[in-house]
Amino acid sequence: MPPSDGLYSASSPVVTLTPHALSTATSRGSAVLVEYYSAWCGHCQHFQPTYEAIAASAKAALPSLLVGAINCPSHEAACAEAAVGSFPTLVLYARGQRHVYSGGEDEASILAWAREKLPPPADGTPAEAAEATPPPPRREEGKLLPRVPIVPVPTQDIITAARQSLLEVANARLVATKQVNSELANTESHKDGLGALLGWLRALHYQLPREWDGGATAASVAELQAMLHGRLTVPKRAEWLQMLDRVNAGEANRKHEWVLCNSSNPQLHAYPCSMWLLFHSLVEHSTETTAMTTLDAIVGYVIHFFGCEECATHFAAMAATREYSLRTMSERGGRERAALWLWHAHNVVNLRLAAAPDKALAEFAKGEWPATAECAACKKVTLSHHGAKPSVGWDRKQVSQYLSLAYCLEPRFECWRELQERRLARPAAEAELSHATGLTLVAFAVFLLLACGFHLRGGGGKKKKSDHVV
Ligand SMILES: Cc1cc2nc3c(=O)[nH]c(=O)nc-3n(C[C@H](O)[C@H](O)[C@H](O)COP(=O)(O)OP(=O)(O)OC[C@H]3O[C@@H](n4cnc5c(N)ncnc54)[C@H](O)[C@@H]3O)c2cc1C
Repeated sequence: MPPSDGLYSASSPVVTLTPHALSTATSRGSAVLVEYYSAWCGHCQHFQPTYEAIAASAKAALPSLLVGAINCPSHEAACAEAAVGSFPTLVLYARGQRHVYSGGEDEASILAWAREKLPPPADGTPAEAAEATPPPPRREEGKLLPRVPIVPVPTQDIITAARQSLLEVANARLVATKQVNSELANTESHKDGLGALLGWLRALHYQLPREWDGGATAASVAELQAMLHGRLTVPKRAEWLQMLDRVNAGEANRKHEWVLCNSSNPQLHAYPCSMWLLFHSLVEHSTETTAMTTLDAIVGYVIHFFGCEECATHFAAMAATREYSLRTMSERGGRERAALWLWHAHNVVNLRLAAAPDKALAEFAKGEWPATAECAACKKVTLSHHGAKPSVGWDRKQVSQYLSLAYCLEPRFECWRELQERRLARPAAEAELSHATGLTLVAFAVFLLLACGFHLRGGGGKKKKSDHVV
């Protein structure tokens, strides 16, 4: 049986895609042929067997190509964004480029066209393997592209960041000699760097995901903790690097591969990007009672060891007032408050970078996270009682839930149970939510219409009274 809203059944060689699945596949470097269609269009119905034959042939002839379809009436926004003007439209996404097909609608022509656009496999390398490492995102002339969202975030980036964070300790400008200004450090234990390092290792030990690498990184961290036992200062660079080698966490053991955070210059973009993902996920994986300690460990790590000095200075300034901001938050649990504080701090950085992008460094467009397209429920419209303009703000409860969705990665963590409970309760909650959001948006639209109509008739300010009389 075909799915109720589409032409292609679960057993069809054509994969029914969602826009999210498509962006995930393309961000991972997969080549994807997409038919944007409408199930009610007769032309698309006639084309269905041809497209299924193309998908079946591609499995053998072009094994690296994913052949999928998106039913536009179910995903209007995505089809509008893809500039689909007629049905069916065939688009091939390969190596960061987008090709729209305009030839004949027969199997041979379409397959020949796709074959021509696909990257040639390297000598003796199967096409599948040639595409295993995602290419860095392309930047159009003068235009910054957004990072493709992946929810939940890829564990690979988090483990890579954790391993890189250990190496960065060796490069840190503060190691061994640092006397941190107590105003910035905020707590005594951060003053010498050793407290910060021990706190960071503790956070990694308890809050790192373990399934992706079989717990290898967490085990290396535990060994480092044991080696540092009884020490009074942070080891000097050479000794630290030897320790990393002994626990298999040295440079030789690290793969520089990111997924969501892939970039043309990992030291500038992928590394800080993945550190953010790691920080958010460590907080999310904390318990109610350890979340604030995890947040302190993150602050300590950034101040002492994070590779970008300017970033550390800005972050430390925000962190210096964190006790006050955390106290003023009304959220219930320690974890929720810590997660929201870090989310807010990250958004402050995003907005600062959005306002003044550094042309030499900027590779991705910055903005507040999550975007409305990722989490519409995270935004709320507030209507004032006094007739002032409605304003759009954050629904922190929804943001907190979206943070869990993005950053809670394994069943062994407390957040997972809550995530499952919410998933079970979701259909009813979603119905309520969409009803409530719908009503608010309708109210907002009515308000705008009235305001607009009024404005067009010349309303506003002092003229209001006489216009009304006329
Ligand atoms: C602690 C810290 C401080 C920094 N300070 C500076 C600075 O002062 N100046 C500077 O130029 N660069 C700074 N950076 C680097 C900068 O923030 C980016 O990390 C870098 O520019 C790469 O950006 P990106 O586009 O990959 O996205 P990033 O901002 O790195 O975000 C990575 C991913 O995190 C998710 N995300 C985005 N915002 C949020 C949020 N609010 N909550 C949860 N998840 C979110 C998204 O999935 C996004 O793709 C800092 C980095 C860190 C870790």
